[in-house]
Amino acid sequence: GGDRKSKSRTPSFLTFEEIGGQDRAKKELVEALDFLIKHEEIKKLGIRPLKGLLLTGPPGTGKTLMAKAAAHYTNSVYLAASGSEFVEMYVGVGASRVRDMFKEARTKATKEGKNSAIIFIDEIDVIGGKRDGGQQREYDQTLNQLLTEMDGIHTNDAPRILIIAATNRKEMLDSALLRPGRFDRHIEVDLPDKKGRLAILDIHAKNKPLADGVSLEKVADQTFGFSGAQLEGVLNEAAIYALREDKTAIEQTHLASAIDKVMMGERTDKEAAA
Ligand code: ATP
Repeated sequence: GGDRKSKSRTPSFLTFEEIGGQDRAKKELVEALDFLIKHEEIKKLGIRPLKGLLLTGPPGTGKTLMAKAAAHYTNSVYLAASGSEFVEMYVGVGASRVRDMFKEARTKATKEGKNSAIIFIDEIDVIGGKRDGGQQREYDQTLNQLLTEMDGIHTNDAPRILIIAATNRKEMLDSALLRPGRFDRHIEVDLPDKKGRLAILDIHAKNKPLADGVSLEKVADQTFGFSGAQLEGVLNEAAIYALREDKTAIEQTHLASAIDKVMMGERTDKEAAA
């Protein structure tokens, strides 16, 4: 249940229960977030504040969901951006966008009476890729501004700011981003195992009618290597197959065809959902 008072563009918050599998990642994330919540104790012990968390792993595994759930869990304001947004910007625009985002996070948290804000930056590698040689790159100012903002976060700041970044190319990141006091805590969000796949399928099947005898466990068995996003796609495609046959419930054969379709890489699920 999100905050209904805020405008509709406020992202829908979700809980960790709505993220299937990823038990280890969720546990590590919650442990890290407790640092944000148990702020006073942390301060007394002189522990340096947690500023940056890096979520790594293949596309579609739930990194964005994790960031949103993190905001819900810590009762934080949530702001999101993607590294690719900065690509077409003129020199200096990216940097000022970053500055504005931190400013907005603080203003919003204060206005909503929250103690903390989480800024999610997807595809951080786009602005934070390795810098080789002395070459100036167009995104350097954006990255530098981000590092400056992070360095400017102090233990006593209110509201507290946490930056969660995601990448599926960790090895590409510039070491400046990974230094202590920056993105120094990494959480791997891997492709789900069978148990995880079943949990994800269960979540996304909740609002879909399944015919008697349909086994999602069988689907979990047949989808080795699928991401959460692909599993969501399987259920959606299966529902479309059922509709095409004028059926009122999804049958195992629809699921089997949907698995094939998603495996072939036909990504029509997004368009169909739109
Ligand atoms: P990308 O790296 O492409 O940004 P991501 O890891 O951030 O991907 P999300 O955007 O979090 O992936 O997931 C995309 C969609 O896939 C979600 O909206 C959800 O429908 C589904 N999904 C992915 N992982 C899970 C999961 N663990 N549990 C439930 N749904 C999931």
